[in-house]
Amino acid sequence: MNDQQLLRYSRQIMLDDVDIEGQEKLLAARVLIIGLGGLGSPVAMYLAAAGVGHLILADFDTVDLSNLQRQIAHTTDRIGQSKVESAAKTLLALNPDAKITTVTEILSADELRAQIVQVNVVVDCCDNFATRFAVNAACVAAKVPLVSGAAIRLEGQVSVFDNRDDSSPCYRCLYDEDSEENTSCAANGVLSPLVGIIGSMQALETIKLVCGFGKSIAGKLLVFDARYSQWRELILPKDKNCPVCGKC
Ligand SMILES: [Zn+2]
Repeated sequence: MNDQQLLRYSRQIMLDDVDIEGQEKLLAARVLIIGLGGLGSPVAMYLAAAGVGHLILADFDTVDLSNLQRQIAHTTDRIGQSKVESAAKTLLALNPDAKITTVTEILSADELRAQIVQVNVVVDCCDNFATRFAVNAACVAAKVPLVSGAAIRLEGQVSVFDNRDDSSPCYRCLYDEDSEENTSCAANGVLSPLVGIIGSMQALETIKLVCGFGKSIAGKLLVFDARYSQWRELILPKDKNCPVCGKC
């Protein structure tokens, strides 16, 4: 680390749980962020600011006026630009040290797997079940931890699926593939700071996984009710018959 980096990350390095060693791990880390919308914006911004060395941003969508109420990595003058290009500009303005790779094409299962085997953590910030199941299957196969978040209306949830550990449940243990698809913010609405709360939790869990301090929320689902500012914690059992992570 050079003097500029020591100063930039000084408030983090002075934490015993992070220290120089943890900051070096962050600088050497590669994290894949799926979706650069309401959740992906704070995830990418906090991870870039905290010094995660290489962020791979995947999203095929473009910035729309109706996104700007909550997708804080994007700005009014970037309406019509690709979300990953817009986010990359914001992240490099925050931290020019960050290496950013952008992916705008829809990835096949093989391409997704090829991206995932190269990263330390995958952060799922997408808004549809099809992508969530594909990302989960690739993370289980590659044994890469997955930090999953979702937010809609006034409710959010966050979980970690630590696929390095065979006894840990996966996303498919929690949801059936025939789950209801009617969960888009476009159809249901979502309150602006809710995505910041859930995205910030995802960024926190990612940093803990990379640095290796504390205890992750793996095996639990945290559910946040914004109307009453209340968190609930649910235990996620592993499904022995899960078609993705089960033995059969
Ligand atoms: Zn499973």
